[in-house]
This record gives sequence, C-alpha cells and structure tokens, in this order.
Amino acid sequence: MKHHHRSATSSPHPSVPEIGVVEPQRRFSSGYVNGVRPPHHLNNSQTKFCNPWPSFRFQALSLWVDFTARNIFSHTVPPDNVKSLIPIQTPTWGVGSGNESKAKATWLGHACYLVEYPTPAGASRGPRIIFDPVLSEHCAPIPVSGLKRFTDAPCSMDELPPVDLIVLSHNHYDHTDLPTLRSITSNPATSPHVFVALNNGAHISKALEIPRARVHELDWWDERAVRIMLPAAGSNTNTNTSDATESASASRTEKEVEAQLRVTCTPSQHVSGRGPFDRWGTLWAAWAIEELLPPAASSDSGASQPPSQSQSTQTSSGTSFAASSVWSTVGKKLFFAGDTGYRTVHNGEDEDKVPVCPAFAEVGERFGGMDAALLPIGAYGPRAMWSNLHASPSDAIRIMNDVKAKKGLAMHWGTWVLTTEPVMEPPALLRKECLKAGVNDDEFLVPGLGETVFF
Ligand SMILES: [Zn+2]
Ligand SMILES: [Zn+2]
Repeated sequence: MKHHHRSATSSPHPSVPEIGVVEPQRRFSSGYVNGVRPPHHLNNSQTKFCNPWPSFRFQALSLWVDFTARNIFSHTVPPDNVKSLIPIQTPTWGVGSGNESKAKATWLGHACYLVEYPTPAGASRGPRIIFDPVLSEHCAPIPVSGLKRFTDAPCSMDELPPVDLIVLSHNHYDHTDLPTLRSITSNPATSPHVFVALNNGAHISKALEIPRARVHELDWWDERAVRIMLPAAGSNTNTNTSDATESASASRTEKEVEAQLRVTCTPSQHVSGRGPFDRWGTLWAAWAIEELLPPAASSDSGASQPPSQSQSTQTSSGTSFAASSVWSTVGKKLFFAGDTGYRTVHNGEDEDKVPVCPAFAEVGERFGGMDAALLPIGAYGPRAMWSNLHASPSDAIRIMNDVKAKKGLAMHWGTWVLTTEPVMEPPALLRKECLKAGVNDDEFLVPGLGETVFF
C-alpha cells in the first residue's frame, strides 16, 4: 500500500487547483451504436485497434528492411551548428505580455506544447494543459545514443509552471515519457488529471502512482467536461470594479475562480506500442480542447449557475460537479493532432490522388473550426515508408485546412532524429508548401523552442 500520495479530494497546498471531471451529454456518436463494435476496435475487449480508413495502407516489407539498414549505416546527422539554427529561449509562458485575454501556446520541443487558456476575471492565471510532455534527453526506454536530443529542452522539468491537465496522444516514447510525467504529477503545487485514449489508463496510473480516478481514458469522440478552480489574482480581492462578478460566487471560497474546459478525444492515423509485443494494443488519438464560458458573464450578478441539487455527480476525482452545471458557451478552441499520418503514398504514387484520412474534416465540421491547431511537420522521410503514420508539411497544411484552424503551430520536429529527412528540412519545406497552398507565413507558424504564441 502506498500512503504518501495526496488524495485528489483534499488540497494540501492552498494553490493547488481543485479539479472536477464529468461526462456531459454526448454530442457525437463514437461507434458503439446499438452495440455494434466501432470499426477501429479489432476486438470486444478494447485491447487491439486499427486505422479504419483506406488512407491507411501498410508499408512494403522491403521498405522496413531498407529503412533499418539505412539507420544502421547512415543515420541522419544534424549539422554541427544546429543549435544556432533553431531559436531557443527560456520560456516566459507569456506572463506579463498583456495578453491575458488570449490563449498562450509555448513549444517545449517535439510534440510538447504547454497551453494556457485565457485568464478568467479575478483569477491569477488561465487553465493550463501540457500535451505530450517529454523533457528527458532520450526518447527511448534506455539511453540509446541515436535517440539523444540534438537541441536542448528550453526548460527543465522543475521549471514547468503548475499544470491542470496532461493530455497524451499515444504511448510512443517520444510522446509518453514517464520521468517527465512523474515530475509533473509529483509536484506539490500541482494535482493534474491525465487524459489518455483507450487502454492506456491502467499503465499510466500505475507508472505514475496516481489514483486511477485521476486518469481519464477516452475512446474516439468521447468527451469530458472539466471544472478547474483557479487561484484568485493577488492575495486580496482587488478585482477591477468592472469585474464585480466574483462576489456572487460566495458558495466557493473567495480565493478560487472557476474555469471550465471540454476535452474531446478525436481520431488520428497512427499506431502505438512501447515494446515488441504491444503494437496496436493501446489507442492513439488527437484531441480537441474547448474553453467553456460562464453564462451571463456580462450580467452584474450570478457569475456561476445556481448550485444544482439534483444530478450532482460524484466525479472520478471525488469532487462534486454536476453534469447539469457544465457551461454551454464555447470560447477558444484548440486542436492537438498528436502523431498522425494523413494518407499513404507508396513509391510512384501521386500524393494528390490517394485517399486522405477523413477524420480531420469531420473535426472541422463537428467543432465548427478551431482557433489554433498544433500540427506535426516532421519524421516523414522516406515518404513511402512513413506517410501512413507521420504527416509531412503538405499533409499538415491539409490537416490545418480540414479542421478549419485559423492558425497552425508546428511540432514533431527539431528535437530527435527519428527518420531520414535532413533535420532542418521540415520548416523549410513547410514554407514552400504554404506558398503553394496560399497559406501565409503568419497563419502556419514555426515557433522557436520556448517561444510563446498567442491565439
Ligand atoms: Zn508515434
Ligand atoms: Zn512521434
């Protein structure tokens, strides 16, 4: 028995946000309609999955042989000056920039972004999510020299600010790093909940030694509403006179301000596995995170909905949070594509003539567009080998357009050599492809390491 772990129900640290999670009324059908198994489930026990679209085809075995041989004999080597080619800065997380009404996204290398939603009136900060946090040197279970970082992480694990949610795309080592995750979940100033796709929950809960109830395992198109009680601004209640809404929520302590997010698991075209025997065994996913806004925010009273006596759900965190008090107005919308392919392009095929993954256009339709999308642009070479699992810059632009994102932010490059393309090629190719596709430079950004972008 372990006794040293903090219960999510009691906050030992006054600034630890209290988090409640509920399953709201379902908006999207995920597949188990009338008991029929969804096409991405290969069995009834949810332990084997697949990419159920013609956009996914397997690579020829000969490509695997070639790729393995090439990796052994001529591993792609970053240029000596690579650290000066990719800008790096100590993250400011956008603090003090005067952009409190905007969402902030800070790139921490590879597929890791720390996103802070707008600061609610009276709060000291907005709700924070970290995606696929990996700050270790190696993206492997053992320190293989070929999988060592060629750029520095812009901050150490200890320098991360408190985060409320951790969202993981899948269990590959370049996306799910137990030392980084443990560092975040064991920080006394944080008590984050973790969102994973099907069949990842037990492993994460056990490996991080956190209660299973703090790990939320979703299937594609499942969603959860999350209520986060944020620390109030300052130590005294010196809110602006125009923000008189705080006094109304007297039922909660004056020191906390409520924020809500809706987290939806959406499909991606990929694979999973941490060892040789668990390929396809846990689900992979992209995620849509919507900010929810309180009703009648402009009114001079009633910042919160009246406490609902009925339907009060005992949530997984043990915090009482009624499904009926989920706010319905949507604010900022963000799409995190995780690790994904868009189409399969075999040697000799025209990439514009092969089927594409339909999931992203579906996301665009169902959510009515996104304010920003975090999109992978690297690990695509050779194209015939990786197209079914990894997006190239041209794929990333198509995904951005499919999800109807106003802004694309690049990721999944500049950190580890995973494939054969030159390490500085992804951003250069992205600029070329953007030009071809009529996308402006300021619509698809390539942030530097540690840089914060506002949206
Ligand atoms: Zn992967
Ligand atoms: Zn990856």
